[in-house]
Amino acid sequence: MTETEYKLYIDDVIRRVETARLKVSDHHIVKIVAVSKYSTADAIERLYRIGQRAFGENRVQDLEKKAAELEDLPLEWHFIGNLQKNKINKLLEINPSLFQGLDSLELAHELQKRLAMREMRLDCLLQINSAKEESKHGILPENAIAIYKQIQKECPNINLKGVMSIGAHSDDKALARKSFETTHAIYEQLENATICSMGMSGDFELAIECGSNMVRLGSIMFK
Ligand SMILES: *Cc1c(COP(=O)(O)O)cnc(C)c1O
Repeated sequence: MTETEYKLYIDDVIRRVETARLKVSDHHIVKIVAVSKYSTADAIERLYRIGQRAFGENRVQDLEKKAAELEDLPLEWHFIGNLQKNKINKLLEINPSLFQGLDSLELAHELQKRLAMREMRLDCLLQINSAKEESKHGILPENAIAIYKQIQKECPNINLKGVMSIGAHSDDKALARKSFETTHAIYEQLENATICSMGMSGDFELAIECGSNMVRLGSIMFK
C-alpha cells in the first residue's frame, strides 16, 4: 500500500468507529489505541504520520524497545498485557500513559509498593474477565466493584480510570454482546471512572454499541 492508499484505508476504519459511536450518541467519543504488538517501529511511524498517536503493546520488553526506538515522536504508550511482578520496575521506568491490565488485588498491592518507593502515580484500568474464560486474565465480574473500591482505598498511587475487558471468544454474537454489557454495567456503577476499554479488530463495532469508549485495534490498523 502506498501512503495515500493506507490513509484512505485508515479513514475507512475511522468511519466504521464513527458510525458505531453515533448509534450511541453524538456525545459518545471513542478513542482508538493502535495495538502494535505484531508491528515494527517503521510501521508505527507510518501510522503516526497519518495521525495516530496512541499505541499499545502487550509485552514489557517490546514496549521498552519500541518506545526507545520512537522516543523522538510524541506518542502515547499503553501497556495492555499481563504484567508479571518481575517486570513491574521495568514498566515503571517506561512510565506508560495507561496500564490497562491490572488484573488482581495482589498485583495492585505490589504495584502500589513500587510506585510509592518511586514517588510516582500510574493511571490504570481494572481488567475484567467478563466472559469468565479460563484462558483469560482479569477479575470476575461479581467481584469487580468491591476490588475496584478496595484498590482505590488501599493503593493511593494507583489512579484507577475505569475498566478493560476482552470480549467473549466466540462466533456467537449474543455471547460477545453479553460480555460487553457485563463490563459496561460494572463501569457504570463506578464513581469517577472515565474509561471503558473494550473492542478489538473483530468486534469493535459491537463493543462501541455496548458503551465502549476506547477500542484496542491491532491487525486492522496495520496493513
Ligand atoms: C492483541 C490485543 C488486541 C488487538 O487485537 P486485534 O484482534 O489484532 O485487534 C487488543 N487487546 C489486547 C489485550 C490484545 O492483547
